[in-house]
Amino acid sequence: MTATPRDVDVLIIGAGINGAGLFRDLCEQGLKVAIVDKADFGSGTSAAPSRLIHGGIKYLETGELSLVAQSTLERNLLLRNAPHAVRPLPTVIPIFSWLTGIGAALRTLFGSTTAPRSRGALLIKIGLAMYDFYGARHRVMPRHSMWSKARALTEIPPLTPGIVAAGTYYDATVRHPERLVLELLQDGIRASPQSEAFNYVQLLGSDGGIVRFTLPEGGELGFRPRIVVNAAGPWIDQVNAALGAPSRLIGGTKGSHILLDHPDLLRALGGRMIYFEANDGRICLVFDYLGRALVGSTDIRAADPETVRCEDDEIDYFLASLRELLPGLSFGREQIVFAYSGIRPLPASDGTAPGLISRDHSAPVMETEDNRSWPIVSLVGGKWTTFRGFAEEVSDMLLSRLGQPRRVSTQSLAIGGGRDFPADAAARVRW
Ligand SMILES: Cc1cc2nc3c(=O)[nH]c(=O)nc-3n(C[C@H](O)[C@H](O)[C@H](O)COP(=O)(O)OP(=O)(O)OC[C@H]3O[C@@H](n4cnc5c(N)ncnc54)[C@H](O)[C@@H]3O)c2cc1C
Repeated sequence: MTATPRDVDVLIIGAGINGAGLFRDLCEQGLKVAIVDKADFGSGTSAAPSRLIHGGIKYLETGELSLVAQSTLERNLLLRNAPHAVRPLPTVIPIFSWLTGIGAALRTLFGSTTAPRSRGALLIKIGLAMYDFYGARHRVMPRHSMWSKARALTEIPPLTPGIVAAGTYYDATVRHPERLVLELLQDGIRASPQSEAFNYVQLLGSDGGIVRFTLPEGGELGFRPRIVVNAAGPWIDQVNAALGAPSRLIGGTKGSHILLDHPDLLRALGGRMIYFEANDGRICLVFDYLGRALVGSTDIRAADPETVRCEDDEIDYFLASLRELLPGLSFGREQIVFAYSGIRPLPASDGTAPGLISRDHSAPVMETEDNRSWPIVSLVGGKWTTFRGFAEEVSDMLLSRLGQPRRVSTQSLAIGGGRDFPADAAARVRW
């Protein structure tokens, strides 16, 4: 049955972290917004990250300094606004030489497309000092420090004796990313009760000014929006094609993770993340995630989010990297309890090494046409960490197009269970 189309200010297609973040921001401004997803809320790439809320220390290497500035700020804000879900994560970088990597880092900074290898102590010290500098706004965590080899091996005994030192600093981790997506949607509806969120709807296409979907229980759902936002992550180009506006905006890369049941490894980690260089120069990570050791990630060009999975050679790569890093422990496939993959919705690019494709976001607009009465704004890129800032930028653009003022800033707005969350552990026990 075809229902009467709903008039909305903004229709958002895709309820991952970027769609949900924008939904909340627009609802806070009093707009009437609809958000739809073809699957469950937050079940796309947003459910498959490394679970870091991070300032992007590795983007220093590619010279994306404004992204580091934004990411460190957003990390610090999330620690305040979502303390129930986002926690500090002490991090250790093992270092294998004193001076190497400076030439390669400079070449990368000036546009070389070969991935950097072997970052020495001096380079890491400079990087960590810059990271502290960029992370100063709303700082809530300690600054970096350097460990001697002896200290590092005392703190993490199974670590390879091949290190010369270690750097330590703080980033953060989100424990249940899907929950935060859901809470953003709930917060949005609380702020704007006329707004709505639908999952498991299938996009049929558009005719005239109406965008049509089928509902999971049968029947149709139609919207007459003033603006459409395509927040479909790695599916963005498919959604634009279905809306009659073909695009080539996304050039995704696949990233996989494994979870190990490995109590000895967790004991050695002691609540810290090891952020380490695998022997191909790529940065990998391992930390305690809900009582399992989370190991990731790979970075391989791939396009189809429907078929993405962690392949055997990725597992071999993780296990070999761990054996080299922590020779005092044993690693095998039998320890793997779960594996997952996702596609990073990165901007389309030709020829660049996957690790060097920009992690920054953008929101290109396809203006109205004779057969389409609404512009389409596509949310390209966009880290989990930076969703609030990205949403704010896009929301400001949409508000100005709709002739509405910003009523509420989301900078210090608590999210879901973060409201009234007690600040310290003792108060949390009493709570
Ligand atoms: C391996 C890996 C590790 C990462 N680690 C981190 C990290 O540690 N920290 C960090 O900050 N970032 C990380 N990221 C990046 C981050 O996860 C993504 O950039 C972010 O989740 C993208 O969110 P999104 O909302 O744009 O896309 P998605 O989460 O993919 O959301 C898009 C939504 O659109 C829906 N959709 C698709 N087609 C349709 C349609 N036709 N109709 C309706 N809905 C549709 C999908 O179902 C999906 O829910 C990582 C990414 C990967 C892949």
